[in-house]
Amino acid sequence: MKRCATGWILLLLLVPACRQRSGIIYQNSTIDALLDGNYDGEVTIAQIGKQGRWGLGTLQRLDGEMIAVDGRFYQIRADGTVHLIPPNTLTPFAAVTHLSHSRRVKLGAFGDYAALQKVLDALRPNDGHAYALVINGDFDRVRTRSVAAQSPPYPRLADAVEKQSVFELKDVGGTMVGFWFPASMQHVNVPGYHFHFLAADGRGGGHVLDLSARQATLRLQEISEVRIALPRTAPTTRAAPPTEADLHRVEK
Ligand SMILES: [Zn+2]
Repeated sequence: MKRCATGWILLLLLVPACRQRSGIIYQNSTIDALLDGNYDGEVTIAQIGKQGRWGLGTLQRLDGEMIAVDGRFYQIRADGTVHLIPPNTLTPFAAVTHLSHSRRVKLGAFGDYAALQKVLDALRPNDGHAYALVINGDFDRVRTRSVAAQSPPYPRLADAVEKQSVFELKDVGGTMVGFWFPASMQHVNVPGYHFHFLAADGRGGGHVLDLSARQATLRLQEISEVRIALPRTAPTTRAAPPTEADLHRVEK
């Protein structure tokens, strides 16, 4: 915002950019800790809910996928069922934000996840900041996955997702909530796009693998600040730290 005070002419030129203020992401733990198998949460969904109304994550013992839609937190279990999450449930990893300064964009139709990402790339004004994205739409298909609760000693995430459940939702209305993070955040959160989905009729959802839409609208929020609650316990000692290949196996 400082550069807005550098002169009246510059000020006039920058008014549209300044009006679009950036937001804050709050997250607990890091993607590296999750990749390493740290599935015991120290933060409750109620505490996460105070920091943001929109977001994603997982639950204690990696018990399914979590999505926050306008302050309501849902669990999509490995059997595909959707449940409202009790506020005292712990989460080992979650990221949330408020969409206080989001802008709305009509996206229209798109044929697959790659096509959607191309459209979104063109809407992001820079590659340094992160972005929160909420997409409402009518989808021809949404392929999602979820994972089952794990028991200690916990496997690494790349091994746990080998047994993931994959769902194919056809002709479904719903909401995608996600983030785009720059590559520089690789050890903190997932670089690139990461979305979770919730069907409007509650029939399913999960971590988005692919999709196509007949029509969709986007709410886009630029993020200039990420606040992280670090886990009290050190990550499990492993022979090797998580690699980029681990992340790719887990997210794609
Ligand atoms: Zn996910």
